[in-house]
Amino acid sequence: MPAPLDPWSSVIPKDYERVMKEFGIQPFGDLLQKISDPLPLMRRKLIFGHRDFDRVLNAMKARKPYAVMTGLMPSGKMHLGHKMVIDQLIWYQKKGAEIFLCVADLEAYSARGLSFDEAKRFATKEYLANYEALGLDIENCNVYFQSKRSAVRDLAFILGKRVTFSTVRAIYGFAGETNISSIYYPLIDVADILHPQLPEFGGPRPTVVPVGIDQDPHLRLARDLAAKFQQEFRFVLPSSTYHRLLPGLLGEKMSSSKPETAIFLTDEDREVTKKLKNAFTGGRPTAEEQRKHGGNPDVCRIYELYLYHLVPDDKELLEIRERCKNGKMICGECKQLAIERMIAFLHEHRQRYKKALPKARRMVERIT
Ligand code: SF4
Repeated sequence: MPAPLDPWSSVIPKDYERVMKEFGIQPFGDLLQKISDPLPLMRRKLIFGHRDFDRVLNAMKARKPYAVMTGLMPSGKMHLGHKMVIDQLIWYQKKGAEIFLCVADLEAYSARGLSFDEAKRFATKEYLANYEALGLDIENCNVYFQSKRSAVRDLAFILGKRVTFSTVRAIYGFAGETNISSIYYPLIDVADILHPQLPEFGGPRPTVVPVGIDQDPHLRLARDLAAKFQQEFRFVLPSSTYHRLLPGLLGEKMSSSKPETAIFLTDEDREVTKKLKNAFTGGRPTAEEQRKHGGNPDVCRIYELYLYHLVPDDKELLEIRERCKNGKMICGECKQLAIERMIAFLHEHRQRYKKALPKARRMVERIT
């Protein structure tokens, strides 16, 4: 049996191809020519895998209903790594998807020990207001708090009837001392994924869940249960896409709990400057060596920022890559460019955030 993937771990899986093979994930690149205006994340293979995404593409093309399901963990501050999913939601929203956006306050309670009030504050200020400021129309999404949607909790309970403890232990690797809320939580997560297909939320239809590869255990369980409850609910097996996680500035995964690894959307100019100056690069020990032998963008955290966020134009990205590899640009100059772009992006974002916050507050008051 393949080793369990832990959705709560901070370790980046080293070998994505191995994971795809082990868990039957298809390469996303095979579908690219079927998408008329793919996101840079798709063109650049940052979204690298899928399960049954063809089904969603077909619905999109035929202008038939389909849903996108995603969630946010309302703890900690929003950082650039989180933006990747929002870029995808904005794209789907333009393409007529119905977007379900779950505030995972039950998960924040069981996994992080946050009170429901704290989770509400984080969800409003750190996430929903930032989503709106980034360009997602939150009023046109089906936003809900897990603790307030009884249909999700009821469905989780029903689904639990056909899941044994051995199954969840094999998928998640739970140890003996894991508390029961954490053991039960995967069923809430699966119910989040499947509930858009209940009659009161639109009925059976294709649903896609864009996730990092570390979230795949939830998807596998959701698909398994969708098949097991076919007779009762006629669920269409949920589709999924998999994106690479944006690596942290110093090497490991970007994490809200390790501020030096991440750029937060609220970072001040001097924090951005300091963090990017300290970022791990693929440069050589001296400028002279770098001019002679070139750098290595493939291991460089600054280049990753260009790839994911700061350089949407493919031609310009390629030029930066070439100049790095042939030693025409050295790290100091390159970091300065990244600092300028990041600061400009964050300044503009802060202006939009000011307008977005009251809207997010009004919406949260209405739905809680
Ligand atoms: Fe990274 Fe830029 Fe240095 Fe190349 S020149 S290694 S892309 S910081």
